[in-house]
Amino acid sequence: MTETLLLSRYKLDTFLTCQRRFHLRFRRRLPWPDRPLDGRWAEVRERGEQFHQLLERHFLGLPIVAEAIEDAEVRRWWSLFQRHVTLPEGEATPERSLTVPIRGHVLNGRFDLLILSPNSAHIFDWKTGQPHSEADLRHDWQTRLYLAMLAEGGAALGHTLQPDQIAITYWYVNDPAAPRTIHYNLAWHTQNWADIQAIVSQIDEVLTQDVWPLTDDWGHCRQCAYQAYCGRQEAGKTVPDESEEASDEADLFLEPEIP
Ligand code: SF4
Repeated sequence: MTETLLLSRYKLDTFLTCQRRFHLRFRRRLPWPDRPLDGRWAEVRERGEQFHQLLERHFLGLPIVAEAIEDAEVRRWWSLFQRHVTLPEGEATPERSLTVPIRGHVLNGRFDLLILSPNSAHIFDWKTGQPHSEADLRHDWQTRLYLAMLAEGGAALGHTLQPDQIAITYWYVNDPAAPRTIHYNLAWHTQNWADIQAIVSQIDEVLTQDVWPLTDDWGHCRQCAYQAYCGRQEAGKTVPDESEEASDEADLFLEPEIP
């Protein structure tokens, strides 16, 4: 019997990128990232967090006074949000967490906004980084995991949902007039859920053997804080896209850890 893991999209993504990184980061809990935040990166991250908190307050019913938003860029994003975002009918809950059991483990996700009606569930995700295409987003683990979790775990929210009643919209402050909405369906869910189960089974196998191979792709090592633990310093370093990483790291900060 292996230990019970709390698995998020980042953890699945990390496992698929490098099993040794998964082990070092989430089981041994070695610090990540290992580098200090430079001023610009910290500012970008801070803005992203401010914007998410602002929208959370808005959807909790608290009044937002635009003039009181100190950061001019966040104030501009708020204005864009008001002008461009249209929401479907239903009960809106910000920062909604959901956990779904899977093969003795637990999948965990937190939606920026979830709108539930008797016949539908719609996730909204606010993005302050660089926009991605809808085609890329369909393959992203955030999309795949969140849609699958609602299809499998909707009963915990008081709604049993069919896959074709579920959708996710990504709204980018940097492309405000073109939200990316992705609709789920049964055929996709059947394959998607099978894929997720297969990954969890693979994690179980590795946990049982307790052998955590290094990735063969040294390209992943270039953006990894654990080079010294793996003897991969020769991979060199690349600087990730600031705005994209800031968004992801802010989300990661909010993710609960494996118990
Ligand atoms: S340095 Fe490379 S092999 Fe080591 S944990 Fe990072 S990605 Fe994996």
